[in-house]
Amino acid sequence: MNGLDLPQPFDVQVLCDRIGGDRGRPIFLAPISLPTGGPCGLWINTEPADYIFFEADTSPLHQRHIVLHELGHLLCDHHAAPVLTPDASRLLMPSLDPAMVRRVLGRGCYSAVEEQQAEIIASMIIQRTSSWVAEPVRPVPPEAAELVRRIERALERTVH
Ligand SMILES: [Zn+2]
Repeated sequence: MNGLDLPQPFDVQVLCDRIGGDRGRPIFLAPISLPTGGPCGLWINTEPADYIFFEADTSPLHQRHIVLHELGHLLCDHHAAPVLTPDASRLLMPSLDPAMVRRVLGRGCYSAVEEQQAEIIASMIIQRTSSWVAEPVRPVPPEAAELVRRIERALERTVH
């Protein structure tokens, strides 16, 4: 945690850019309409990039918390059982080899301890940056927009 270089004023996208730079793999943030009662956030790990999706229909403060929580899972390198079938993976990422979609993570797939770790990281970052000016989470980058649409469609199919 102390190794984290927290940007000031706090900007969650800048933090993700720094972590992505260290990992040699970009982290894209994207708002998404997630089904009620489901996870508020989703971390999808693919070979070329990491994607963190967060509930579009909530406050900027909550969105930042969701992103930091998912970032906590990423930083802890939590592994969870894939929640999507191979069909769903292909639907989500038709341009990617399904084998490249190594992990699809959502809340509820982790152990209680892993949830706690992610939440502790989110809380620590929020505490350390709470007095700083904070930028809202910026919207989806164009390169991830099509992926977001596909995930939204796949979630609709799963839920209804
Ligand atoms: Zn979690």
